[in-house]
Amino acid sequence: MVSISFPADDFYNETKAKIFLQFYDQTAKVVLNQFMEATWNYVTNITRKNQEEMLHKDMERSQFMIYFGIRACLFKVAQFQDQDVKRMLRKLQNRQGGPAQGRAAGELEEVMATSRNKEELLWAWQGWRDAVGRQIRTTFEHYVELSNKAAQLNGYKDMGALWRSKYESDTLKQDLELFQELRPLYLNLHTYMHRALHRHYGPELIDLRGPIPAHLQGNMWAQSSVNILDLVLPFPKKIPEDVTKIMKGQHWKSEKMFADSEKFFTSLGLLPAPPSFWKKSMLTRPTDGREVECHTSAWNFYLDDDFRIKKCTEVTIEDLLSIFHEMSHIQYFLQYKNLSIIFCEGANPVFEEAVGSVITLSASSHKHLLNIGLLSLKHQDSGDEDQGPKPGAAARARWGQGSRAKLWEDPRGRLLTVLTLFPEDEKVFDGTIRKDIYNQEWWNLRLKYQGLCSPVPHSAEDFDPGAKFHISADVPYIW
Ligand SMILES: [Zn+2]
Repeated sequence: MVSISFPADDFYNETKAKIFLQFYDQTAKVVLNQFMEATWNYVTNITRKNQEEMLHKDMERSQFMIYFGIRACLFKVAQFQDQDVKRMLRKLQNRQGGPAQGRAAGELEEVMATSRNKEELLWAWQGWRDAVGRQIRTTFEHYVELSNKAAQLNGYKDMGALWRSKYESDTLKQDLELFQELRPLYLNLHTYMHRALHRHYGPELIDLRGPIPAHLQGNMWAQSSVNILDLVLPFPKKIPEDVTKIMKGQHWKSEKMFADSEKFFTSLGLLPAPPSFWKKSMLTRPTDGREVECHTSAWNFYLDDDFRIKKCTEVTIEDLLSIFHEMSHIQYFLQYKNLSIIFCEGANPVFEEAVGSVITLSASSHKHLLNIGLLSLKHQDSGDEDQGPKPGAAARARWGQGSRAKLWEDPRGRLLTVLTLFPEDEKVFDGTIRKDIYNQEWWNLRLKYQGLCSPVPHSAEDFDPGAKFHISADVPYIW
């Protein structure tokens, strides 16, 4: 157990703060490393014993963070000169254990992705919202109150203000308005989708002058339309090149997929993954009978150049691109590893994922796929790529397989952002959005930013935002 004694006020001066931070840096490395190691051992070998060990280390880590978090609050940061010291203390004050993340909805998601039957789609869409959203409405109201209390104890007006503080930007709201620059493109895509869905589902379901019902885009949250490319891809008679088939034909192995990704980074003058990465990572599903958790992730062990990826790689183009994404995390870990452990994370909550997205987009470019022999010039139509309105086979192959498909994703994060972040706009945490209109406001925002509507009337009894993982699991999210 941790016991804390509080010395006199003048003890907490700037010199002491620097010593305190140094001490934190050294000890946190060990504590976090042990926690990561125990978690890794569990997810790559699921046994009762490993689970107990992980939970034990998790508790140690929580106590450790609480201990340092409370102490960090005692320093009178406002009078300090050193900006880094101030920033580190502020970050430490906000640091908590971090929520455990989980996933559900599996089978219903599958229905949303594959069914083209409007009744079945509505059944899955509505079923998920009844089972999850509605059920947590009152809990969510309570959560808002408790979150605000916690934020106020940390010196913030409400939890929204605490979340915004992580971006360390006085112009966050204006920064997010960059979305407006993309809006014309989004509107074009929206109109195109609208027409394609109208073609398939007919005028009784799709009103071309109204919004798109939210259950038809192949995704439970209408946040991506990749799964309905068969309905919307232009020139349906032209079959896109099947890159996965090409990979299999060329006898690609998971080793080659990772090696190619490594080559991509080093060719840009970036860092190679250290030898231990190749030794300690789990790059394919083990064949020794161990039960493992296959969810793809990149891991920082905070000690001795120890960075790993856990992935049950299959030879597909999706997995190849996902490897580039994960290797971007490894690259980012490598780039910041010499900083204080307090700074060993993305520059703000979205930056690290953004790096991964940029690299993946680049890796999936026509030029790169051509370079690594996964697309052939003979499939490239005249007028392909950048010129001409007609996408050629190569461009269509990529569209169909995940890169440009990114464009089909909706600005859902924008929605959650508005709900939680903006003091001037409608807001949840400061109470501007009252709890009896949570759901109504949610749909107002979905209409405004996504051009979507609920397929059936929903009332204040429903709580549709709660059907999205990040809202029910307390994960602030701009994207
Ligand atoms: Zn990622």
